[in-house]
Amino acid sequence: MDRQQLEQRLASLPLFQYEFIMPEELTFSDRIRHVCESECPMYNTTWACPPAVGTVDECKTRCLSFPHALMMTSVAEVQDTANMAETLATRGPHEALTHQVEQLLHDCGATETYVLSTEACAICEQCAYPGGPCRHREKMYPCVESHGIVVTDIAERYGIDFLTGCAVVWFSLLFYR
Ligand code: SF4
Repeated sequence: MDRQQLEQRLASLPLFQYEFIMPEELTFSDRIRHVCESECPMYNTTWACPPAVGTVDECKTRCLSFPHALMMTSVAEVQDTANMAETLATRGPHEALTHQVEQLLHDCGATETYVLSTEACAICEQCAYPGGPCRHREKMYPCVESHGIVVTDIAERYGIDFLTGCAVVWFSLLFYR
């Protein structure tokens, strides 16, 4: 991995913050999975969400099988962060940015990546789950929380800011080797 080249190219993207971390620094918790189960309307509706992504232990094993990870955020301005429709409408550019960063990792020498990003997958109008296999396995990013990862824990440790007011901060985690 050519880290210097990667950082030069990351600097040309509209990222808000990024940090290289060790996957073993992440905290995985069944408590986060419980929030998916009890509060998220997307639970059990896509291949990108629990229970399709596996148990928290399986997700943890998958994530920790990678020696490196990059966490990244981008920011979008909205009128009102409590307005879910307005907030979710800003998600697309962050997903596109996450794909660009994944490509950069490959360009700079990564041989394999595993990417977690925001919310449930919205690539297809109607998810193939559970009747058929995912149609876009290579493009589909499960959300970070679906793996039981405590985002606030790692974000606090590295001073990743989650602003309030009129800014939405989107977060992705890219594992690579
Ligand atoms: S790519 Fe399509 S089939 Fe796969 S998880 Fe996303 S919405 Fe479902």
